[in-house]
Amino acid sequence: MAKCTKCGAELQHDFKFCTECGERISKTLEIKKKIEEKKRKEITKTIKCPSCGETTQIQGSIGARVAVICPKCSTKGFFQFR
Ligand SMILES: [Zn+2]
Ligand SMILES: [Zn+2]
Repeated sequence: MAKCTKCGAELQHDFKFCTECGERISKTLEIKKKIEEKKRKEITKTIKCPSCGETTQIQGSIGARVAVICPKCSTKGFFQFR
């Protein structure tokens, strides 16, 4: 169920305007916002060093390419978040 961004009234899905306050409901704006939130969200991944087997945790957002340096043997690598 959609909610009016202005007054918080619950709306039927096919209403273009809020029945309480008349605020215009933009569905596309809401979807865009959700995609941006998803993109911005930081995720933590545990990765394993290919040369010594040491595991390390890295943080990044989806789509980001992060440079990783092994804390044990200093092997450098890249990790692609997806
Ligand atoms: Zn409203
Ligand atoms: Zn290592």
